[in-house]
Amino acid sequence: MYDTMLIVDDSELIREVLKVIFQNMYTIMEAENGEEALEIIEACRENINVVLLDLQMPEMSGIEILKKRQKMDFFKNIPVIVITSSNAVEDHITAFKEGANDFVVKPFVPEIVVSRVNNVMASARRLQNILKESEHFKTKAELDLMTGLYNKMTTEFLSDAILQSSPEKNHALFVFDIDNFKIVNDTEGHQAGDQTIRIIANLIASQFRDTDIAGRIGGDEFVVLMEGVTSKDIARRKAQDIVRIMKYKPNLTLPTNVSLSVGLCFSEGQITDYKTLFKMADECLYQSKKEGKARYSEYGVLKPKKENDNRDVVLILSRDRDICSKIDGVVDSSLHLCEIGTREELENELMDLKGSIKLMYVDISDEKDKGASKWEDIREKNSLINVPKIAICKEGDMQQYSLALQEGATDIISVPVEIEILQRRNDKYLQ
Ligand code: GH3
Ligand code: MG
Repeated sequence: MYDTMLIVDDSELIREVLKVIFQNMYTIMEAENGEEALEIIEACRENINVVLLDLQMPEMSGIEILKKRQKMDFFKNIPVIVITSSNAVEDHITAFKEGANDFVVKPFVPEIVVSRVNNVMASARRLQNILKESEHFKTKAELDLMTGLYNKMTTEFLSDAILQSSPEKNHALFVFDIDNFKIVNDTEGHQAGDQTIRIIANLIASQFRDTDIAGRIGGDEFVVLMEGVTSKDIARRKAQDIVRIMKYKPNLTLPTNVSLSVGLCFSEGQITDYKTLFKMADECLYQSKKEGKARYSEYGVLKPKKENDNRDVVLILSRDRDICSKIDGVVDSSLHLCEIGTREELENELMDLKGSIKLMYVDISDEKDKGASKWEDIREKNSLINVPKIAICKEGDMQQYSLALQEGATDIISVPVEIEILQRRNDKYLQ
């Protein structure tokens, strides 16, 4: 059975658009003003699972509804994602102060709304599951109420229980620490800092199963124990995905310089206590911070130091984690894969790279200027002149295609990138 979503917006058009986006995922209910929304919520109570709420409505605004929600216990447990046409930071902060779980700005991109709702819902579901199964917990004090994840003590207790009950399995432990988090507190205030912690907790929770142990063990530090991984690559891919999402923040409302560092280690059927495993993962986290943050390190896996890394290089100019993941999957691991999201990163990496660049992927599928500024960045760099370039364009976007060819792209593939096509093109340039 689908969960139920209540869409509250005075614009029929917006309600219609949201309905189309979510109708295959949720049972949809609609309200065209605040009064009607409160009536529906009062009548349906816990049968509503998530609310999308317009902030600017005549008579009763979204903020007023949020204020009333603070006093209604059953409503407080229903996640609310605010939809606003205002880009003003103050409005977003007010919404968060009044308890909104996240927000999206109009005009919105469907993928962004879906992703925000999914993240918020993953966290809410985890919390509900924990509360449902929590008869054996004496109080909610075992949870971190700010994020709905387990607190430090419970994380240790449950992880130890898993490690000891199945010592022969390979369990994976992740330790996460937010990068540059203090800046959020200092520049945007504690409330915004708290909201950043919640959004990141939601994101981490959404990447794992509800049965995995996910906890907040300190201010900006989180832990996840994945029980019995069948392959280490599954855990590695998760660490990489989370780092990528946080680095490029495709669908997240987070300050730009906030990212995530991760330490990862495996119990390997050898380690049966949380403390030892945590110490190992924490060492790796420290390694990630030392190497420049926004990355993951794995225990026992040595990465070649930059100055000694003479491997040939494949550059990926993309902020899209899906595209990066797919390229990662087809490029031979003997090559150094270098993912670049900004012009500054391109400049820094080109200065540091020791190996020769064999191929580059230039993703312009999402560029508003059809890729013009990206191509300009590339054109300025002498070391890139003779490098074969595969442009990744939006399916059928002739302007992107022709600009790419004009700028010397050797090949074009379109999104969604198909693995077989990618594999063939990659092999062609790298044999
Ligand atoms: P680094 O990149 O090296 O990790 O540095 P950082 O700026 O993220 O700071 P660090 O991890 O050393 O410290 C975390 C800070 O988080 C310290 C404290 O001011 C802040 N903090 C801890 N708990 C909370 C909380 O519950 N809410 C908010 N808003 N801030 C918190
Ligand atoms: Mg930190």
